[in-house]
Amino acid sequence: MTKPVYKINVLHTADLGMIDCSFLVNKFNPGEKVNVPVFSYLITGPDIPPLLVDTGIKEDQLDIMNRLGMVAYQAPEQTYAAQLAKWGYEKEDIGAILHTHLHIDHAGNDPDFPNAKIIMPRRELMFAVADLMDAQYPPEYITYLVEQIHVPGKVRLIDDDGELVPGIFLEITEGHTWGSMNIKVNTAKGLAIICGDVIYDEQLQCRANPVFAEIAAHNQYDMEPFGDRSTGNYWNLWAAKAAVQKVMREADVILPIHDALVLEKYGYEI
Ligand SMILES: [Zn+2]
Ligand SMILES: [Zn+2]
Repeated sequence: MTKPVYKINVLHTADLGMIDCSFLVNKFNPGEKVNVPVFSYLITGPDIPPLLVDTGIKEDQLDIMNRLGMVAYQAPEQTYAAQLAKWGYEKEDIGAILHTHLHIDHAGNDPDFPNAKIIMPRRELMFAVADLMDAQYPPEYITYLVEQIHVPGKVRLIDDDGELVPGIFLEITEGHTWGSMNIKVNTAKGLAIICGDVIYDEQLQCRANPVFAEIAAHNQYDMEPFGDRSTGNYWNLWAAKAAVQKVMREADVILPIHDALVLEKYGYEI
């Protein structure tokens, strides 16, 4: 049976500044600060309600990023209301939120989507309350999510990889956090993998570049580069590397949350 084909829209919901390069890409230029976008992804298609991947930084509390020494910017056209309106939707239309993970820049606005189920790996929520990544899991977000477990039908905690619906596959991926999740979507461009923060910067982590000679060296026999470089921000380095390699091996379309390369390659629609 052929799988349904889905459309993915990029929602550019904020920008982050004052991020250390070595936080993004492991051991790369410590001390140098850069800006990155914060994306969410809207998945639409036949027979499903619109799905939203991640909910960004809490809109009425952008200075929450100061807890990590970072700053957040959100122009009026970057709010979730504005970004969804661009594609003809309202917050009430979202049927489910899929979380790549629950970090401070990925799970801030869940309460604003009244009709959305919240879907995430159980172990990401366990990890979030375990105080292993400090201020990256704000109590404001996590307390809300724990409470939602007790609202009948609101939360779906997944414990194993599997299809959400035909053509959309949820895969638990350890490394960046213990319970991160890839969302693998059948699109007109092939298999798109929304990979959260498994990859921050595809070019630097996974492609031949002037910075990391060992990645370029993999190219000398015309082998595909597969991504030796983890993000700088990880909880398990070995798993983080394995997770990068898996996405590189499988994806036709790589969709991280903070990589401007997505817009260069695809614009706002995949
Ligand atoms: Zn992030
Ligand atoms: Zn993260």
